[in-house]
Amino acid sequence: MEITERDLREEVRAWVTQNWDPALSLRQWRERLLESGWAVPSWPVRWYGKGLPAWTDAVVHDEIARCHAVSGVPTGLAGPTILEQGPDLVRERFLRPMITGEETWCQLFSEPSAGSDVAGLTTTAVLDGDEWVINGQKVWNTSAHHADMAMLLARTDWDAPKHKGITYFVLPMKQPGVEARPLAQMNHHNSFNEVFMTDARVPKDWVVGEVGQGWTAALATLAHERKFAALNRRSDLEGVEPGLALDEARAEADEIARVYSWYPQRAGRVDLVIEHAKSAGVAGDPLIRQEIAQLMIMYRASQATAERARQARQSGRPPGAEGSIGKLASSNIARQASKVHSMIAGTYGMLAGDDPDCPLDGLLAEITLSVPAQSIAGGTDEIQHNILGERILGLPREPDPTRGQPYRDVRNA
Ligand SMILES: Cc1cc2nc3c(=O)[nH]c(=O)nc-3n(C[C@H](O)[C@H](O)[C@H](O)COP(=O)(O)OP(=O)(O)OC[C@H]3O[C@@H](n4cnc5c(N)ncnc54)[C@H](O)[C@@H]3O)c2cc1C
Repeated sequence: MEITERDLREEVRAWVTQNWDPALSLRQWRERLLESGWAVPSWPVRWYGKGLPAWTDAVVHDEIARCHAVSGVPTGLAGPTILEQGPDLVRERFLRPMITGEETWCQLFSEPSAGSDVAGLTTTAVLDGDEWVINGQKVWNTSAHHADMAMLLARTDWDAPKHKGITYFVLPMKQPGVEARPLAQMNHHNSFNEVFMTDARVPKDWVVGEVGQGWTAALATLAHERKFAALNRRSDLEGVEPGLALDEARAEADEIARVYSWYPQRAGRVDLVIEHAKSAGVAGDPLIRQEIAQLMIMYRASQATAERARQARQSGRPPGAEGSIGKLASSNIARQASKVHSMIAGTYGMLAGDDPDCPLDGLLAEITLSVPAQSIAGGTDEIQHNILGERILGLPREPDPTRGQPYRDVRNA
């Protein structure tokens, strides 16, 4: 029989009442969550879950928080990828310390000349006895400066076609052969790095999926790219009972906030638009009202699409076009929100910093400079258009004269 939301919440509440102790360390608390299956309820029982349907994750997360306990576990993108792709040796080695937060992760996919076309990567892995030796450069790697492990794509077979010769590795970041150099962004944040690998080492078996099948595993990661919500934010911790677990969860959330604090601005801060118009005394301006109305139409329509996708997932239907539509909508909404904020602020919109005349206490400058990232991260607008055209509308595939050729010949041509 399928579990109802009410029964689920009751079961979680009873368990948290018996097991939550604010004096535990964050790791001890997460170990209890993990042993009970409530850390990742939709994962299989063998891999620390309860084998429940996907919708239960959010409900359980919410109910734990309502019980004034620390809720989120940092499974990120690597967790679901390793869970899906295996093999067991990799699941056994990495899932547990990921869930307890002992090992943090970053993604090493993009390269200076392989972003949208990530399958065109040239970082190379060569097997040397019991280890792979890695050489190459990655870029735009969020959190690479403090991560313990990386999801790494590297080429292991130059004689295979572009998508076939790639392997997906787990790279230990803290070793002499790996150097992460932070990149300064125009919005004054430093979320990204460029990562240089010079004879870096990976144990022979630390391969996600199979050698040469890295593209399949990479697609699994990209499909999860939008589910980053499992991490705790400071606001998620507001009601948590004080104690060691809360202190450590706050420290973890602060570290995350240092990297991601500009992400709400990158989405355009739709939530601030109406108040901004009112406080600037322009809420009655007909042109500004029209633009705000347009923004709200786009925003609500996108929420409806997201809800449709959520319900489809809940009822077990395969994902359709909603992912790409939602990604495109988020770019359009961010741009429209940034435009409206700038119209409201007028020439003051050009001010940045601590000046008292800065609109939204300086936040507008951050919105203006962060919004372009919305249409790049996780696949650009043009790439989403291509995906929708080819996979949903059935238009002809983008021509690729090199298809099927050994990648060595393509690069040397
Ligand atoms: C906020 C943020 C976080 C990120 N985090 C990470 C991370 O953690 N790890 C990681 O590996 N990467 C990360 N990235 C990198 C990101 O995946 C790439 O920036 C993205 O895939 C685009 O690649 P590119 O920057 O090389 O642009 P390019 O691929 O060089 O694209 C340049 C322009 O050409 C267009 N274009 C390219 N190909 C086509 C085509 N076939 N048809 C039509 N137009 C095309 C693009 O749309 C774009 O306008 C992040 C990026 C951002 C902005």
